[in-house]
Amino acid sequence: MTYRSKKPREAHVGHGRKCRLCVEKVKAIDYKDTNLLRNFIDEQGKIVPRKATRHCAKHQRMVAKAIKAARNIALLPYVNDYIK
Ligand SMILES: [Zn+2]
Repeated sequence: MTYRSKKPREAHVGHGRKCRLCVEKVKAIDYKDTNLLRNFIDEQGKIVPRKATRHCAKHQRMVAKAIKAARNIALLPYVNDYIK
């Protein structure tokens, strides 16, 4: 078997460039700031994966936590179903 399953480029996604939130020196994400959080969910209401956002681990975790907190108090949808 000589099938190559490794994708060497993906191993270093984000390498050499800081994430947007690092550039903006964001230290905390307010879960009430839905205008900001909406940038990090797709049209289905799902959290955009790190590969797409280029967030660092620290900020992606912050974003995910904030989005989950916002969903919890119904500021953001779990599933966006108004787009048909
Ligand atoms: Zn960051």
